[in-house]
Amino acid sequence: MFRSIRWRIALPYVILILASMLALGVILSNFLRQIYLDDLEAQLATEARLVGEALRPLLEHSVGAPANGESAAPLIEQAAREWAKTLGARLTIIALDGVVLGESDDDPALMSNHADRPEVIAALRSGQGSSIRFSHTLGYDMLYVGVAFPNPQNPLAVIRVAVALNRIQSHLAQLQGILFSATLFVAVLAVLLAAWIAARASSPLQQLTHAARQMAAGELSDQPAAVNIDEIGQLTQAFNQMSVQLRQQFRTLETERGKLSAVLQKMSDGVLIVDQQGLVQLLNPAAERMLSLLAREAVGSPLAEAVRHHQPFEVWRQCQETGEGQQATFEFSRRIVLQVVATPLDQALPGSILLLFHDMTRQRQIERLRRDFISNVSHELRTPLAALKALTETLRDGALEDPPAARRFLARMETEVDALSLMVAELLELSRIESGHVPLMLQPTAPMEIVGPAYERLCLQAERANLSLTVECAEDLPDVLADAGRAQQIVVNLLHNAIKFTPENGQVIVACEPQGRFVCFSVRDTGIGISAEDLPRIFERFYKADRSRSSGGTGLGLAIARHLVEAHGGKIWAESQLGQGSTFSFTIPIA
Ligand code: ADP
Repeated sequence: MFRSIRWRIALPYVILILASMLALGVILSNFLRQIYLDDLEAQLATEARLVGEALRPLLEHSVGAPANGESAAPLIEQAAREWAKTLGARLTIIALDGVVLGESDDDPALMSNHADRPEVIAALRSGQGSSIRFSHTLGYDMLYVGVAFPNPQNPLAVIRVAVALNRIQSHLAQLQGILFSATLFVAVLAVLLAAWIAARASSPLQQLTHAARQMAAGELSDQPAAVNIDEIGQLTQAFNQMSVQLRQQFRTLETERGKLSAVLQKMSDGVLIVDQQGLVQLLNPAAERMLSLLAREAVGSPLAEAVRHHQPFEVWRQCQETGEGQQATFEFSRRIVLQVVATPLDQALPGSILLLFHDMTRQRQIERLRRDFISNVSHELRTPLAALKALTETLRDGALEDPPAARRFLARMETEVDALSLMVAELLELSRIESGHVPLMLQPTAPMEIVGPAYERLCLQAERANLSLTVECAEDLPDVLADAGRAQQIVVNLLHNAIKFTPENGQVIVACEPQGRFVCFSVRDTGIGISAEDLPRIFERFYKADRSRSSGGTGLGLAIARHLVEAHGGKIWAESQLGQGSTFSFTIPIA
């Protein structure tokens, strides 16, 4: 409690006031005692002279009496007793040689010689003397005042008047009591006053302390008011300004932090910050996803333990050694390819390194597809072109002279050219669909309007191949939102394959049925089926399940079908087992 500034201000004042009151009390009581004693001494001296005047004849007689004459002693003693009663004091008449002539309170005959008493010595020397002594006769302090009577030059006797000092001591005690009460009262008043003044002075400081504590706890809302213009007021004002500025800076920081965290949360690249010791400091959700980590487990743990691949650690190590950016691409898990770029964070976070992870899987896939596409196109073109080259060479080398053979060769050349133009046409079609250059005229269309014409177009082909082709569509199916011509093309492509890959006497069924918000179309056959290995890839461009078995197709039919279905907002998939037939299904949204 006494450590507070309030008490540090109040306490010295209180001590000062108490000390001065105490000193004043002591000085005052001593002073008063002295005055009292002086007065009393003067009064007793006067009384002694008075008594002297009254006893003068007796004293003269006593001094002048012959040794054998009648003694005045009993009379003096008698007078002393009477006068003592009148004065209310002890009275002693002492001869110049110190013999006690008369005494009010004792028997003079039994009393010792008084020549050595200080008041007697002083009275004989200067006319008057006094002394304060403890009286063994009476048992308390007494003031003795002796007067040489009638004068010091020619004295008859020393008249001594004494009073007990217990009365004046009780007066003094009373006075001291009053002084003490006053001191106490003033002290209490001083304490209260000092406490009040100190409280007034320190309350703005307390407010400031409170506000500073709140600020330290992160609450910047409360503001201490500037009370007055003194130093504390100025301090409060400065504090207010500081708090306003802090709040502004805090808000700016919060906004910046919000932005940064939003960017980190939403960015598709993985971000990881690793400190000098190789401990993970921060990672964003994308990094969690890419590296299959949990932030709460990874943060604080070593990079080599957190990320289960040596490459990021290697890149971090090199970056730390060289102090320069590093990068590497690695296959993190099956089919996931990541690129990691390490950058030192220099000034922003000395010693820390930023690892940026970029998912390269899709890019790698596209690159692979492009490579496959080019090799596929050239491969597909090479066969008919080689055949054409061989046929023209044969014709030039003499077959022209043999008209029947020449006609046969020409027919074969025509077939090859047809195959080439079909492939070019399909490629063009695919690229137009892929690049969105084929606008779909979507309108409510009855499913039978899609299935019917496709069936008509391939009926004859199925018949020639000795296959039964049937349609199983409910009549009350809802309309779908489709471009009829393009939707027919999907069914035609699927039917075409079904007929192509189903041996004689097989069955091909086209069906349609509602499926939630869609109508599901399916083409089922009892053909050769597709192996589980090929099944996921048959919708890719140029993909043919069995390359050795030349089906005469281009491998583009299903890719075109997939693009058309997706342009309609549906999905396409295939289910098949080798040797057991296949079912191709696709959905088109209901109008
Ligand atoms: P293609 O012009 O070669 O038929 P597609 O893209 O239409 O090209 O088909 C790709 C491959 O899918 C075909 O080469 C074939 O191996 C397989 N395939 C498609 N439909 C069927 C089916 N109904 N039965 C068996 N295999 C099929």
